[in-house]
Amino acid sequence: MLYAELKMTKPKIWLSSPHLSGREQVFVNEAFDNNWVAPLGPNVDGLERDLCAYVGAGHAAALSSGTAGLHLALVMLGVGRGDVVLCQSFTFSASANPIAYQGATPVFIDSEPQTWNICPEALETAIKFYVAKGQKPKAVMAVHLYGMPAQMNEIMAVCARYEIPIVEDAAEALGASYGGQKMGSFGKIGVLSFNGNKIITTSGGGALLSDDESLVQKARFLATQARDAAPHYQHSEIGYNYRMSNICAGIGRGQMGVIDARVAARRANFDFYQRNLGHIDGLVFQPQAEGSFSNRWLSCFTLDATQAGGVGRESIRLALEAQNIESRPLWKPMHLQPIFADAPFFGGRVCEQLFENGLCLPSGSNLEVSDLQRVVDGIQAIFMPVASN
Ligand SMILES: *Cc1c(COP(=O)(O)O)cnc(C)c1O
Repeated sequence: MLYAELKMTKPKIWLSSPHLSGREQVFVNEAFDNNWVAPLGPNVDGLERDLCAYVGAGHAAALSSGTAGLHLALVMLGVGRGDVVLCQSFTFSASANPIAYQGATPVFIDSEPQTWNICPEALETAIKFYVAKGQKPKAVMAVHLYGMPAQMNEIMAVCARYEIPIVEDAAEALGASYGGQKMGSFGKIGVLSFNGNKIITTSGGGALLSDDESLVQKARFLATQARDAAPHYQHSEIGYNYRMSNICAGIGRGQMGVIDARVAARRANFDFYQRNLGHIDGLVFQPQAEGSFSNRWLSCFTLDATQAGGVGRESIRLALEAQNIESRPLWKPMHLQPIFADAPFFGGRVCEQLFENGLCLPSGSNLEVSDLQRVVDGIQAIFMPVASN
C-alpha cells in the first residue's frame, strides 16, 4: 500500500482533543434562553463555585484564558519593568510571556529529574544570587508539567524563607494532587486553563484561584476594564478584557461534572502505555513521586537511544506520523527559545535532555483501547527484529 493511501485509510489519532460530556448544552441553552450572552452571568458564577469546591480554593475568577490568568497574577503582585521573575524553563511559552508583557526580566530555572518540574536547589541558588545583588525576585512561576505535581514542600519552603510569592501554573494539572491537596491551591495565586487540548475545556478559557478574596476581586475588576464605581466610565488603573463569557462558562459547567472521569481515563491511558511499552530498554515514563497524584494529562516518556539500539524519540515520532498518529516532543525549554536567548538561566542540563529525548503520546480521554493499541503497535514495530530470509 502506498504511504498516501495508508494515511488516508487510518483515522487520525490526536494528541489530546476535546471530550464533551453531553451536559454542556444544557447550560449553554439556558444562557441563550435567558439572553445571558455576555462576559458575566449565572454560568460564570456557577463555574467559579464548582472550581472552588473541586480544587479547595477560597475564591476563583473565570477568565478568557490561562495566559490571561498568569498575566493578571503578575500585575497584582506588582511585577513591573526591571523586576526579576523566576520561572521554570521547562514549560509552555504561556508561563513566561506574561513576564515579558510586564517588562520584567524572566530568569529561567532548570528542572529536577524526579518530577521534571522546577528544581528547588537551582531555585534557591537563583534567589540568593538576585537577593545579593539587591534585586529580590518579585515572584516564582512554578508549573506542574503534564499534570505532574512539582515538589511543592521544598519549593514553598524556599519561597517562604525569602518571602517570595508563588504563582502556580496549574494549567495542565486540574485534578492532580500533592499530599492529598489539589494543584492550583498551593500558590498565593493558582491558574488553570480550559483550552481545547486541556483535561477539560470551555473551548478556550482559564481561571485564577486564591484564598485571598481581595486578590480575586481585584482580578475580576482588572479583567473587566478596571471600571471605577461611577455612573459614567471612569478609570484609575489600566484594565484588561479578560473575563470568560457566560457561554464558555456553560461548557465548563458541563465539563466539571465529569472531571474525575476524565482524570481516570487519562490515567488509564498512561497505565496501558506503561504496561505495554515499559519493558523497552532505555524507555522511561515520567516518574510520579510518593504522595503525588498526576492527572496524566499527557503520557510522556524519555528514550535513551544508546540503550534502545539507536532508536531515538524522533524515529518514534516519525513512525507514528506515518501511521497518522500525532505525538510531540516534550516542551522545548524557554532558555533555549530564540526569543529568550538573552535571559539568564540557573541549573544544569536536565530540562535540555528531557527535550532532546522525550515524547508525548496520544492521551485524550476519548481514545478507545483500539487507538491505544495502534500507538503501541506502531512503537513496538520499530523494535521488532527485521525478518531475514
Ligand atoms: C495551556 C497552558 C497555559 C496557557 O493556557 P491558555 O488557556 O492556553 O492561555 C499556560 N501554561 C501551561 C503550562 C499550559 O500548558
